[in-house]
Amino acid sequence: MSNAHYAVHGRSAVITLDHPPVNAMGHALRQALAAHLATAWADAAIDAIVINGAGKLFCGGADVKAFGTPASRAEPSSRTIVRQIEDSAKPVIAAIHGSALGLGLEFAMGCHYRIAQRGARLGLPEVKLGLLPGGGGTQRLPRLVGVEAAARLVADGDPVGADEALALGLVDEVAAEGELLPAALAFAQRVATQAVHPVASRRPLPPPGDAGFFAAERQRIGAARRGQPAPLEALACIEAATTMAFDDGLRFERERFDVLQHGSESKALRHLFLAERAAAKLAGIAPDIAPAPIARVGVIGAGTMGGGIAMSFASAGMAVTLVEAKAEALERGLQTIRRNYEGTVAKGRLARAEAEARIARITPTLDFGALKDADLVIEAVFEDMDVKKDLFGRLDAICKPGAVLATNTSRLDIDEIARATQRPGAVIGLHFFSPANVMRLVEVVRGAATSAPTIVTSMAVVRAAGKLPVLVGVCDGFVGNRMVAQYAREAEFLLEEGATPQQVDGALKRFGLAMGRFAMSDLAGLDISWASRKRQAATRAANRRYSKVADRLCELGRFGQKTGAGFYRYEAGSRTPLPDPLVDEIIVQCAREAGIERRSIGDDEIVERTIYALVNEGAKILEEGIAQRASDIDLIYVNGYGFPAWRGGPMFHADTVGLDKVYARVCEFERRHGDFWKPAPLLERLAREGKSFAKPE
Ligand code: NAD
Repeated sequence: MSNAHYAVHGRSAVITLDHPPVNAMGHALRQALAAHLATAWADAAIDAIVINGAGKLFCGGADVKAFGTPASRAEPSSRTIVRQIEDSAKPVIAAIHGSALGLGLEFAMGCHYRIAQRGARLGLPEVKLGLLPGGGGTQRLPRLVGVEAAARLVADGDPVGADEALALGLVDEVAAEGELLPAALAFAQRVATQAVHPVASRRPLPPPGDAGFFAAERQRIGAARRGQPAPLEALACIEAATTMAFDDGLRFERERFDVLQHGSESKALRHLFLAERAAAKLAGIAPDIAPAPIARVGVIGAGTMGGGIAMSFASAGMAVTLVEAKAEALERGLQTIRRNYEGTVAKGRLARAEAEARIARITPTLDFGALKDADLVIEAVFEDMDVKKDLFGRLDAICKPGAVLATNTSRLDIDEIARATQRPGAVIGLHFFSPANVMRLVEVVRGAATSAPTIVTSMAVVRAAGKLPVLVGVCDGFVGNRMVAQYAREAEFLLEEGATPQQVDGALKRFGLAMGRFAMSDLAGLDISWASRKRQAATRAANRRYSKVADRLCELGRFGQKTGAGFYRYEAGSRTPLPDPLVDEIIVQCAREAGIERRSIGDDEIVERTIYALVNEGAKILEEGIAQRASDIDLIYVNGYGFPAWRGGPMFHADTVGLDKVYARVCEFERRHGDFWKPAPLLERLAREGKSFAKPE
């Protein structure tokens, strides 16, 4: 059978799970596994069974795509298989390499013994998908590792390494790298002669040492995971394990799992999980194009972005050449890099030696010639077309053939930059987000001439730096900033129509955004967008509505937090936005000048006006082929703009509301507020056909 193989080694049977990419425990794999187990049990020449995984890991978990479908529970279920293993007189040993996650680990806990190869990771990350381990994990784990450790593992969802798993009692032995199968076979023969084998579900479970343990944990988790039901439900299952018989505990776990599975949080988080996988698929690019190896990355500009980008690659083990135009700027950039790493060391999240190794990977220089060895160069200099074109002309002369030449521009035309070189196929946008050493998202912007190998290599190197690359096309602002401009415009119009900054921000935060629109502007600084508005003033249509509030604030020198005032005011040394009556006066004044009668505006309108502005623009972006799929837009918004993951991103949110309802509101806004709200034809079509962004055809 293709999903699992069977082999005999002496008196042991070895069953190998083999269902790429992650040996997910889908129905076909379970059928194959059950059949091979039956073969081993029936064969008198076999007295022990080892189960391992093919490829990079033991088992990555359940088949997420099958969640909620009949196939997910079709017999043989993993529960049935585990029951058979528990009753088996022949020992069953899980031999774990790579990782055993979710149902993969739950299954392993149902085996009599577990051996992990050094480097393996074991965990129950279900809470990260808004779920809890529903395959007996919450009942077996505490019986193996104790209540305290189990509560942490299921409620936080973070995996542990092989050695920690051994110390916890989760595995019985750790094998050296490359020694897993021989070690498992030797172990199997050692225990084969034992009359009985340990069964996790039959172990007694002592209550926690501290009687107040569960109450304290509930408080800790409630504070850390505000609004998320899954971690608390997972904890409740661990608590149930201490008070209920095993089978009752299993029933309780299944009940809580079902509630979460049908909840909107889990659906949104699973959507994002699958979206990350889908984002790696590149339409129109042959799958056999291999990424070029990247050993040295050149970064130009040691400012806000360049420093963070250099750190990202150095932290991932790549050599970085950091080039600046001026010695002072280079020194300042290096100081910031050192300070950032030292901050992480001080927090205990990075060993000092590792921080030093990372810093040592960055070679600072004022000599552009040093870029001749770079496999990838990323430019992060001033946002000025002439400066960038001049730079790319120079890079063209310096860089080796085959090198990828990338720009971190936020909105300049990448095709124009590419034309400054003789190799436009090698030019691409790598749009990192600030702070670049922290933010996961990178928009990989393909120009008209960007070659397939350049795209494939860029996606791979961004992933190698531990980040999330999403492929987009060229347009003003690419995907994220183009959409956010619509959202920002509506937020400002709402001020003139009657809202205050704190009211708009409050409604958006209650919706779930990490930060409101105006607090965000104050943090980012109002001056940069003011400068670009002044540049665009000459081309702006005179009869088009334009909110002057932000301009007025800038004219007063209110550039946001850095000047102590913007849409809010700030006390010295504080980042807390405080309402400012002066801002309210400016808003009222601007509204009066524009002939707008102010009215009272509720949370619902604030959310619909801003979020549907994102959705309508997202639909246009999809139609134009700037984004490959709606779920890519969701990834961009959740990972780059603080959109709540539990709502799945703006496009998923619109699907959840129903596109007919969203379309009706967009039409209503068009009637009331004019052609800013012209509905995207795609939105109109999907609404009329009763379809969704997720399934547009
Ligand atoms: P910054 O002003 O902090 O840094 C720019 C650095 O480039 C300065 O240190 C400057 O000395 C150096 N520099 C200028 N011209 C140079 C040249 N010819 N050769 C070498 N070095 C040169 O700017 P930033 O905020 O880091 O932005 C850099 C780029 O990243 C811009 O294109 C910007 O649009 C883009 N970007 C910025 C953000 C952000 O949030 N700041 C986010 C995404 C993208």
